[in-house]
Amino acid sequence: MKEFKVIERFFTGRGQNRRDVVVNIGDDCALVAPAENKSLAISCDTLVENTHFYPDIPPKALGYKCLAVNLSDLASMGAEPAWMTLALTLPDVDEAWLAEFSQGLSDIAEYYGVSLIGGDTTRGPRSITITVHGQVPEQKAMTRDGARNGDWIYVTGTLGDSAVGLKLIAGELDCDISAEAKHYLINRHYYPSPRVLAGQSLRNLASSAIDISDGILGDIKHVLKRSEVGAVINVEQLPLSDELVNAVGQEQAINYALSGGEDYELLFTVPESQRGALETTLAHAGVSFTQIGQICTGDKLKLLRNGDSFAPTNLAFEHFS
Ligand code: ADP
Ligand code: MG
Repeated sequence: MKEFKVIERFFTGRGQNRRDVVVNIGDDCALVAPAENKSLAISCDTLVENTHFYPDIPPKALGYKCLAVNLSDLASMGAEPAWMTLALTLPDVDEAWLAEFSQGLSDIAEYYGVSLIGGDTTRGPRSITITVHGQVPEQKAMTRDGARNGDWIYVTGTLGDSAVGLKLIAGELDCDISAEAKHYLINRHYYPSPRVLAGQSLRNLASSAIDISDGILGDIKHVLKRSEVGAVINVEQLPLSDELVNAVGQEQAINYALSGGEDYELLFTVPESQRGALETTLAHAGVSFTQIGQICTGDKLKLLRNGDSFAPTNLAFEHFS
């Protein structure tokens, strides 16, 4: 199968059919018509075989995930997804693999209203790069630099599931949990939920936001640095799923929640004055959220457990790190 046939069969017309796409796949450039009074939000992520995923990842999960991780970046800034390009490098043309991959990609693109408007197809070691474009009302994007002393720190969803899901996939975790629980943890790794609606809802409430891709211990430091503040996190407040706690026990669950990667939840800060509005606002986005600490002066991150200082165990992830 020739390159243009691959594009035509698997990638033309994928995702949502948007009226603001002026010229679609098939010309030298795509043309889009951005909305007035909005800023473009642009983000790019690459997934490389053996670095970010195992060769035997279900192609549907890979197609889903490579867009999900990009959408998570748009979510953290409160942007609405619109268009994407796909740079695909593959060792060969495997039609069954391509059919599943493009299905996974199309499913999530349609769900979030993203149109695939162009890309590049090359031969080589398997790697996928997506550039996603979103729109956000001018001056309304959430950034990492707005956290202030006294703001409350929240996260969406639950933390640590994905890292344990990866351990299960790799066959490195022996635990006595139900098949459903294993399935849940593995799917949290393969099919993360980018918090796109929550991000948009938080635009007028949150003082800062970031998506959690490397574990909150690492990611919150970006917020602290850019905002020139410190923080206290109460680890007993970290949101843990029952599946996670049953799989690895309470102590390890906390460590996974702190430094396991690929949660793709949002971490955001909210000033005291906006706390009341948070409940109603996020209820509409259909996602749970949990207060886990508070911003303070200084530049340090302090971990407490029931008021006593807490030292996390280094999980020493050997995967992909
Ligand atoms: P050019 O040689 O002008 O760069 P290509 O032959 O690479 O163009 O691509 C032809 C058209 O197909 C372009 O519109 C390009 O954006 C699109 N395209 C190529 N690969 C992909 C892909 N993997 N997914 C989506 N669109 C693609
Ligand atoms: Mg050209």
